[in-house]
Amino acid sequence: MLATATIEKNAYDVALENFDLAADALGLEDGLRAMIKYPERVLQVSIPVRLDSGKIVRFEGYRVQHNTTRGPAKGGIRFHPNVTADEVKALATWMTWKCAVVNIPFGGGKGGVTCNPKALSLGELERMTRRYASAILPLIGPEKDIPAPDVYTTPQVMAWIMDTYSMNKGYPVHGVVTGKPVSLGGSLGRNEATGRGVFYTTQSSAEHLKIPVKDARVVVQGFGNAGSIAANLFHQAGARVIAASDTRGAIWNAKGLDVPAAMAFKDRTGSLAGFPGAEKITPAELLALECEILVPAALESTITADNAASIHTRIIAEAANGPVTPEADRILDQKGVFLIPDILCNAGGVTVSYFEWVQDENHLFWDEQDVNRQLEKVMTRAFADTLKIYLERKATMRLAANMLGVSRVAEAARVRGLYP
Ligand code: GLU
Repeated sequence: MLATATIEKNAYDVALENFDLAADALGLEDGLRAMIKYPERVLQVSIPVRLDSGKIVRFEGYRVQHNTTRGPAKGGIRFHPNVTADEVKALATWMTWKCAVVNIPFGGGKGGVTCNPKALSLGELERMTRRYASAILPLIGPEKDIPAPDVYTTPQVMAWIMDTYSMNKGYPVHGVVTGKPVSLGGSLGRNEATGRGVFYTTQSSAEHLKIPVKDARVVVQGFGNAGSIAANLFHQAGARVIAASDTRGAIWNAKGLDVPAAMAFKDRTGSLAGFPGAEKITPAELLALECEILVPAALESTITADNAASIHTRIIAEAANGPVTPEADRILDQKGVFLIPDILCNAGGVTVSYFEWVQDENHLFWDEQDVNRQLEKVMTRAFADTLKIYLERKATMRLAANMLGVSRVAEAARVRGLYP
């Protein structure tokens, strides 16, 4: 007999499968599919780094430009032990559709280094970052490919990339990366932007479903930049954040966690584990909690065919990229869960990255209220555009967002035409 255990696809297979579903639903012709489906450029680089001990070790790095039809490639850089060429290709592909969904004039890109940044000293991290930046230097630039933070990369890492690029050029180039420190041409509100976008799109979803956000039970998986800031905004809006987790464990309090205290605790100790005023639960128990809003804010493929049936939520807000597999999508859809797909839900980050790039190019900076106001406008419009397709085509929200993103890129490719 054949084994019945589910074999999950890798992230790039998922990205290609979701593209095909959208292209089929749009009736996209084969020629256009061939033009926009695959990455335009894939660069793999070798990164030797001298450790503090004097020993030299080598890391593998990547930069992928998936599509530049609508504008320069745009997307973050990830430092994580699980980074692979296929993961970076998947993340770059999703950036293309994401930028199109929020209708900003960027294509999609992504970078990554396979490493454990938590095991590196600050000096080692800086040397690795600068060597990686040097290796991808021919590809990046404010007019062609603009990196930003992603998992385990920070404004400081962006500052080192900006400096490395600028030293090589011989003059300061602020617009080569976004998510920089504000003191270096970063945008106010960029650090909070992903979490803020998650909050706005969830608010719009709750309104559509007539679920009050006040008193709603919220569960957050992953308490990094996106997860913790979204959690705090839900907390401020009167929702009850009943559970949260990070790589070291999960915590639960049915009355609602004191989110600012949890954030301060994590800042101080590096983890949520041992946070007073909450009980320890397992990561599996966290995902199965009954709630109104579940926010997967960690990595890809955390909700799969194996655990989707145990989920009890009304809304899933994908703060992470690719947290729900296609098999899990189908199970959740049957259960009537309303899913806010990643390329819509977490697009607040890249939207404010766009504002940052505009500010850098214009040498004119906005105040935080203007940033947040413009962000809310962009996210609300993208949500409405997606919901329209969802309702008119009786599609899932994932398919609707992919249709919106793919159709905008396809239309741009059509009018540009094929060179030569
Ligand atoms: N890494 C973020 C994302 O996945 C932000 C990308 C950017 O700002 O360019 O959307």
